[in-house]
Amino acid sequence: LIIPNWTEFCGQMTTIYNECATISDGKVATYIPQLARVNPNIWGMSICTIDGQRFSLGDSNTPFCVQSVSKAFNYAIVSSDVGSDKVHQYVGHEPSGRLFNEICLDGNGKPHNPMINAGAIIMTSLIRNDLDMADRFEFVLNEYKKMAGGEFIGFNNATFVSERATADRNYALSYYMKENKCFPPGTRALRDELDLYFQLCSVETTCESAAVMAATLANGGVCPLTDEVCINSQPCRDVLSLMYSCGMYDFSGKFAFQVGLPAKSGVSGVMIVVVPNLMGIALFSPPLDKMGNSCKGVAFCKKLIEKFNFHNYDSL
Ligand code: GLN
Repeated sequence: LIIPNWTEFCGQMTTIYNECATISDGKVATYIPQLARVNPNIWGMSICTIDGQRFSLGDSNTPFCVQSVSKAFNYAIVSSDVGSDKVHQYVGHEPSGRLFNEICLDGNGKPHNPMINAGAIIMTSLIRNDLDMADRFEFVLNEYKKMAGGEFIGFNNATFVSERATADRNYALSYYMKENKCFPPGTRALRDELDLYFQLCSVETTCESAAVMAATLANGGVCPLTDEVCINSQPCRDVLSLMYSCGMYDFSGKFAFQVGLPAKSGVSGVMIVVVPNLMGIALFSPPLDKMGNSCKGVAFCKKLIEKFNFHNYDSL
């Protein structure tokens, strides 16, 4: 097994989890009632190794919406489906240095990367646009479910309806991109493309199932529970690279510096963290710091790196 002294490892994870439980910083997102009403004390953590070793603590079975974590999975899925070259005709590779929902494009007139709203909306428009809308949603849901080894993947319709009702910025961003010819041929009405984007933000997981999805990325795109190939190996490498440089909003540079692992956060308070060739971690705690990342989630990662040599450059 990839982690031989599992009991001891789990004991150390428990210590870190308990230390983070006392953190009371941050504020839950309030832009939609479905996020504003979430219990801020929920704190869950799950680990799944590439050998399928599992460990969870706290509220690891509480469902939450993936929100921006969908951006990482959608990019991996669409790159696997149509190829990285095609995808990067429409989106760049650089951190934007701007807010995740800022109305701006890079020097080539493309969204900076797939981990911010502009790039993620373009990625959504590339997802199986030969199918009708219902089948496109079902396609992505099935891909999520494959990555999760068949474990819980849900959908929160109230969140979807709220996202859509408060979407002025995402509409403004999309019209700006339409004006600049950012969308690929075959793109539907913006309303349809944005509906799919909001639906994918409103997909639910738990720490348990999100850890399996993260472990699939840690394992080169092969789900460790089922051995099914979910993401091809190059798109898997690509998504981890962009999670490393762009996955944590405007904290991405410092997170790469301090923690040195690919991660993606979402405004619900979720974080997935990938230790390549070892394990996936899912963390969920709704209160966010000023950058929009889960306070407990970020603290957990820092403590993890103090105890273990998981930082990308710890091996030097
Ligand atoms: N639904 C949010 C949006 O598109 C996603 C936010 C997030 O997790 N950063 O604005």
